[in-house]
Amino acid sequence: MGAAAKLRRRFEEGEAGLGSYYDRLLPELERIQRDLNCFTSITIGLAHQTIERLEKKAASGQPGGKLFGVPVVVKDNICVSGHPTTCSSRILQNFTPPYDATVITKLLAEDAVIVAKSNMDEFGMGSSNENSAQGAVRNPRDPARAPGGSSGGSAAAVATGVVPIALGSDTGGSIRQPSAFCGVVGLKPTYGTVSRYGLVAFASSLDQIGPLAADADTARLVFDIISGHDPKDTTSIPQESYPSRTDLKEFKGLRIGIPREYFENDIQPEIAAAIADLKERLADSGCRIIEVSLPNARHAIATYYTIADAEASSNLARFDGVKFGHRTAGASNLAEMYTTTRSEGFGAEVKRRIMLGTYVLSSGYYDAYYRKAQQVRRLISQDFERAFQQTDLLLSPSTPTTAFKLGEKVDDPLAMYLSDIFTVSVNLAGIPAISVPYGRDGEGLPIGVQFIGPRFSEYQLLEVASQVEQLNDA
Ligand code: GLN
Repeated sequence: MGAAAKLRRRFEEGEAGLGSYYDRLLPELERIQRDLNCFTSITIGLAHQTIERLEKKAASGQPGGKLFGVPVVVKDNICVSGHPTTCSSRILQNFTPPYDATVITKLLAEDAVIVAKSNMDEFGMGSSNENSAQGAVRNPRDPARAPGGSSGGSAAAVATGVVPIALGSDTGGSIRQPSAFCGVVGLKPTYGTVSRYGLVAFASSLDQIGPLAADADTARLVFDIISGHDPKDTTSIPQESYPSRTDLKEFKGLRIGIPREYFENDIQPEIAAAIADLKERLADSGCRIIEVSLPNARHAIATYYTIADAEASSNLARFDGVKFGHRTAGASNLAEMYTTTRSEGFGAEVKRRIMLGTYVLSSGYYDAYYRKAQQVRRLISQDFERAFQQTDLLLSPSTPTTAFKLGEKVDDPLAMYLSDIFTVSVNLAGIPAISVPYGRDGEGLPIGVQFIGPRFSEYQLLEVASQVEQLNDA
């Protein structure tokens, strides 16, 4: 049983009272906020409202939902009605959405308690959580280090053990990379299985919401709740194609592919050693290890940053000082109002992406960059399809290094982009993947390993992640 289910049972069996639990939890949240800067806001009002409702429900003898009383943190690009959603950007500093994202409606329907919105890289753009208008998040495993990004606040909060669940979003690795850096489990679902309604768009063809959790069981519980068809999201997949929990393949005999090209990259020796060790133990447990080739893997970073920036430049056009958030004071005409609002409102990395994205979409360059990237995206997807003809899942590191120091890569965008080398292809192909902790490096920092599966293989991935947790604890 996972951490969330255990906590729910304590409430259910009367071992813990909601009131006293939350009286202790709220100061804990304030403490980790002081230490780590992991939240953009603590939603005390909403938490109290929910607790009151849950207490009444319990008193009337009604059964509690699957997350009865369980505290959940929500990345600050997911709308919670009546609470600020800033995307850690100055431009949305005063934006309060009047509606809940579908994932929030679903969590609340299962009696979860939303306790905080989490700090992130501005609009999801970054791999260290340093691109935040509110400042960097610190990694609880070592406060001098980055928690990863862009869901850094979510990963840090779960890693403290204070909350068992956080929601994140993953456009190119933003759930898996911070999960690896902080030593928690992170699932990026198949594109279209979790509604994006109420998620502030970064790159719409890549964005997916998913859980960061204390353990694989808890991630499974959250995925169960937040997945499902949503008519409010036109890219949501119809119910009949959804992942099934019943036809899981047995662990013994599972064919696990090792993508040769991934290991041609610079990988921290302890991470390569962790993968080698895991391969052996999986083989000992009866899995079949098969080397596979993903020949277009080396184009993944260039392809991802072309497509993601193109979509971002278009999506972020709506932040113009008219419809949402910040508007500059004292511009003398409309054009000046737009330029000054956007110059003041966006941080350096977001501006870089908007300019790159506008460039690759501009007439004369569209064919050379954007169209070409779309063609390579297709090739990357086909590489995976071919690999899954001979294997059930693929195994790789989640990241080429463990958590790096804060400040180490801020002046070198390319070095920062390269920390996504193992995660971005999965988003380009729309397939699911999970990062799960396995081993530590010489400094005691957690190592994350990634399993990648074909569309709708979430439950298989979660099952394997549970097995890896057991191997890691053994
Ligand atoms: N680090 C990647 C980027 O900066 C991925 C971000 C994400 O998944 N939101 O684009």
